[in-house]
This record gives sequence, structure tokens and C-alpha cells, in this order.
Amino acid sequence: MDFSLPKELAPKLEAMRAVVDQEIIPLEAEMLASKSFRAIEPKINLVRAKVKKLGMWAPQSPKAEGGMGLTLMEHARVSEVLGRTPLGHYAFNCQAPDAGNMEILLQFGKPEQKEKFLKPLLNGEIRSCFAMTEPDRAGSNPTWLDTRARKDGSDYVIDGTKWFTSSADGAAFAIVMAVTNPEASGHLRVPAGTPGFRIVRNISVMGEAGDGYASHSEVAFENCRVPQTNLLGEEGAGFLIAQERLGPGRIHHCMRWMGISERSFDLMCKRAATREISPGKPLGTKQMIQDFIAESRAEIDAARLMVMHAAWTMEHEGAYAAREEISTIKFFAANVLQRVVDRAIQVHGALGMTDDTILAYFFRHERAARIYDGADEVHKSVVAKRILKRYGLSVE
Ligand SMILES: Cc1cc2nc3c(=O)[nH]c(=O)nc-3n(C[C@H](O)[C@H](O)[C@H](O)COP(=O)(O)OP(=O)(O)OC[C@H]3O[C@@H](n4cnc5c(N)ncnc54)[C@H](O)[C@@H]3O)c2cc1C
Repeated sequence: MDFSLPKELAPKLEAMRAVVDQEIIPLEAEMLASKSFRAIEPKINLVRAKVKKLGMWAPQSPKAEGGMGLTLMEHARVSEVLGRTPLGHYAFNCQAPDAGNMEILLQFGKPEQKEKFLKPLLNGEIRSCFAMTEPDRAGSNPTWLDTRARKDGSDYVIDGTKWFTSSADGAAFAIVMAVTNPEASGHLRVPAGTPGFRIVRNISVMGEAGDGYASHSEVAFENCRVPQTNLLGEEGAGFLIAQERLGPGRIHHCMRWMGISERSFDLMCKRAATREISPGKPLGTKQMIQDFIAESRAEIDAARLMVMHAAWTMEHEGAYAAREEISTIKFFAANVLQRVVDRAIQVHGALGMTDDTILAYFFRHERAARIYDGADEVHKSVVAKRILKRYGLSVE
């Protein structure tokens, strides 16, 4: 296994890092002060235009579709660089949930669906969302949904309530997971503005409802009518398509978390080296702070290697062969992220609780990493069951 940085990728990563440091991180203060993504949207759109010009647009998408055509392992490295700021992936058009939606539209979309939904998404002209989780059903069991899509003439009529539909506010369409018959489920694309599609609220997450791209909505489908031609893939294949969407997405998320961890680590070390606890004695002279630094370094390095190993396995042996590795990194990397951000806040003292650094934002918004795309316990259970099977114990 070779995890070295491909020669051609190194200068591109440097160029991306420069955009992140010089053009994107300076926008964070305004976003934190206003608590609004929309407040900085015009400025981030200027960065998007620049990224396009520099040929660094949609790194995960094929070249034929206007992207950089990077492999999974290459995009993993990019995801870490962009993850250093909450705005990085958006600026390069590889943000969740759009990146996953682009992927399944590319893989399962009919030509007219690609023209109508995928093309403008790839161009960055519109945004989208993915509505699967429901308030009244355990999201950990995505085969058990209340939302129904019944056939009526040449349409499907959708009824149900979804929540935590990330970025629904302002999205041009939603990919909806709905039960088409109790034995099967399907994905339907619902254009925003379709009668019966209603955003109930942007949910307050850790005290912040956010707006636009940076929000999570409750969405009601009330007699919402879409043509049957909007079905993505075959009827009954919804769950399989959802699984397909999550595989590479977990690698992207885990490497994004490595970016967050590195940025937090950097801030922690800078503070430890400069904050004097008594004259001439910076915090970094204290062994307990040195312990934070050493533990964080070891954990980030271990997590990154594990993610690269999972990406390698997926790239060389396929998503099925990489199931155990993907579940392992999902809970391991999420917990490393959380511990590193927590230690960085601790070293900053009261300053760490403010929005004068990015740390509190990371803490508020990335706690969710242990819940979305499969909660820790679900992934641990997958890993343990597969291991126990090798010892002759089958657990259902
Ligand atoms: C910030 C954020 C963004 C999200 N974005 C989206 C989105 O864009 N689209 C979308 O459809 N959904 C989204 N979600 C929802 C997410 O997918 C679900 O929250 C997740 O699947 C868990 O479902 P649940 O919240 O219903 O928890 P439940 O399924 O009710 O589980 C609650 C807890 O039970 C425990 N648990 C569950 N299963 C097991 C088990 N087998 N063994 C032991 N313990 C278990 C875990 O600790 C889990 O946290 C998002 C969530 C968050 C927080």
C-alpha cells in the first residue's frame, strides 16, 4: 500500500491550501458574528468563481463532467485540506449533501434527469438536499420509513415528514427516500416549489438554526405530486442507492474531520506556546498540556492512516470488501475529532468558549459527527459482529 502524495497532486494541494488560508478563512469571522451563511454567500461565491478559473472545481467529479477527476484516495487528501474551514468544501463544490447527490445522479440518473438536475448542480448554479431521516422513526434503521409515495396517474404523490434535511433551505430540489410499496422504497427528486413541499423550520442545532446551505430543516410533504419519471433508479432500490451514496461520503467526511483536527491542533499548539501562565512560563511548559499535544498528534496520525487504508481498500477491492474498515474509521475518526477539538478549547480557557476562534463552532457543529451517517454504536456493532463471525459466533 502506498499512501504517499502523488507528485501531480502536491502542487494542486498547495494551491488549494493557499485559497483556504488567504480567501476562505478570513470570511469565517463574519459568518460567526452574523450566525448566517447568507451574509457571506456573495463573498464565498466570488471564491467559487476563482476556484473554477484555477481548475480546482468539483475535485471528486469526473473530468468529463467538469470536475478534477480525482481518485478516492486523492480526493481524501483534498478533503483534509478543505476541511480546515467549515466553508472549504462549499467553495470547491464538493460539499455534503450535494457531492453525494451528484454521485448517485451520475450513477443512477436517466439522461433527462442528468440534464435537469445534475448539470446545474455540477456547475454550482443550484444546491440540493437529501431527505431520508424522519422525526418519528429511528434514522438508524433507514428501511423503516413512514413517508409514502403512491402512484396516481402518471405521478407519485408523496406524504410524510422528514427532518435534519441538511441544506434544504434554498435548495433547488430534494432527493427523497419514500416507501413506494411496503415491500420497497424509492428515491424521488422533488423540485423546490412543487406544491405540497414545505420547509416547516430550520431546526436549532446546539442553539443555531443557521440558514441557507448551513442549516438543517424539517420538511413536510403534503400531497406533493411529482411525475413518475422523477424516480431515481428502479422502484424498490432506494435503500441500496442510499448505501451506495454513503460509502465514499464516509471517507470524505472522515478526512474533512482530519482537517478540522489539524486546524484545532495548530491553534492549540500556538496557544500553548504563547499564553503565559506566569511571567516567562507559557502553558506548553506544563506536562498536562504536553500530554494533550502528544495524545492529539498520535490520534490524528493514527486516524488519518486508518482512513487512507479504508480508502485504499475501497479503491482496490471495492466498497463491499471495505465495509469493516469504513465502519471502523467512521466512529474512530469522529471521536478523535471530538477529543482534539475539546482539548484545544480547554487550552484556550474562556477564549475557547467564544466565537473569537473557530473552535466553539467546530464543537457545536461537529458533535453530530458521532450521529450522522450511522451512529457510533451502529458502526461498532457492524465491526464487532463481523469479527465475531470469524470466531464462529453469528449475531443478528
Ligand atoms: C447535523 C446533522 C445533519 C444530518 N443531515 C441529514 C440529511 O441531510 N439527510 C437525512 O436524511 N438525515 C440527516 N441527518 C440525520 C441522521 O442521518 C440521523 O440522525 C441518524 O441516522 C440517526 O438517526 P436518529 O437521529 O433517528 O437516531 P436513532 O436511530 O433514534 O438512534 C438514537 C441513538 O440510539 C443509538 N443506537 C441506534 N442504533 C443502535 C444500535 N443498533 N445499537 C446500539 N445503539 C444504537 C445511538 O446511540 C443513536 O445515536 C442528520 C443529522 C444531523 C445531526
